[in-house]
Amino acid sequence: MLNFAVGPVMGDERILSIGAQQVPYMRTAEFSELMLENEKMVLELTKAPENSKCVFITGSGTASMEAVVMSVLRTDDKVLVVNGGSFGQRFVNLCKLHEIPFEEIKLPAGTPLTEEDLKPYENSGLTAFLINIHETSTGVLYDMEMVSSFCKRNSLLFIADSISSFLCDPFDMEKLGVDVMITGSQKALACPPGVSLVVMDDKAVKRVYENPVKCMYLDLKDALENQKRGQTPCTPAVQILIQIHERLRLIQEEGGIEAEIRHISALAEDFRKKIQDLPLKTASPAMSNACTPVTPLTPGVSAYDIFLTLKDEYDITVCPNGGDLRDRIFRVGHMGHLTTEDNDKLVSALKDMRKRGLL
Ligand SMILES: *Cc1c(COP(=O)(O)O)cnc(C)c1O
Repeated sequence: MLNFAVGPVMGDERILSIGAQQVPYMRTAEFSELMLENEKMVLELTKAPENSKCVFITGSGTASMEAVVMSVLRTDDKVLVVNGGSFGQRFVNLCKLHEIPFEEIKLPAGTPLTEEDLKPYENSGLTAFLINIHETSTGVLYDMEMVSSFCKRNSLLFIADSISSFLCDPFDMEKLGVDVMITGSQKALACPPGVSLVVMDDKAVKRVYENPVKCMYLDLKDALENQKRGQTPCTPAVQILIQIHERLRLIQEEGGIEAEIRHISALAEDFRKKIQDLPLKTASPAMSNACTPVTPLTPGVSAYDIFLTLKDEYDITVCPNGGDLRDRIFRVGHMGHLTTEDNDKLVSALKDMRKRGLL
């Protein structure tokens, strides 16, 4: 199997083998130490400001998105949400469900956010800003420098879903002034799905302690209190946390975040170059290194059928799109344990499909 999905992604043997071992009991000094090291490594990699905290939630990325909306935001906030696809829509749905007042900038699929879009919201009484740095559903990477200055000018609490951009695109929490960043285990961290991470600066932590608790399992206050001693309120996905520890350690050992980003960006560039003579075009003007959204150019060829053929006849997984984009876009991920030789295999399969009249 060769997996180019945008999560779960291919794992390194050294990480995978941890999953084959017995699961240790976690209320021990050894596990606490591992969790405190996890926190320290994540705070370094995200370039979090001093006094920031990181907690580990057992649940996929959405669990942490929901925990943040519930524990950091409140009913007297006025939040601006950027909704450029299914993950932006998820923040909108969460605000609705938890009765957080919000306004949304609804962008047509595949469109970057511009100064023009933000202009009407200058000095408009907003208190917070919610964005998915990389709207993975369409492959648009937003201009974070622009968003950062908007948030700074308007003194907004800045919440960034970095789930699919962490380790793929440059990110500096302190420089950007991000107060909360969220990521997950199954994207560029290249571990199994099931754990998500929330990094909070002291402003966000203060809010969590002030806000009323609305959910027992996703209570960030409880998570913060437990993480002080390297523990979690309930039994976490112990094995994935051990895998994350090994992965973070390897990233540090193998050149840090810059090396990681260089590797993913080289893979993305290599793939984008190799498909140039195929009847395919990249579908976003502002792409993350995490994935390439691809549109077939041959009339009558559906993106979804390409996904099916690759899966069923070549044992290669790419990511299909849903809804209106189903026939127009499929996405090729560059995260995880992949090489340029893997890109060659995918491109050969596409070339073979071209010969067979399927592309
Ligand atoms: C993958 C992803 C999520 C989280 O999805 P889960 O399926 O809950 O892990 C959220 N936001 C973005 C931008 C993502 O890419």
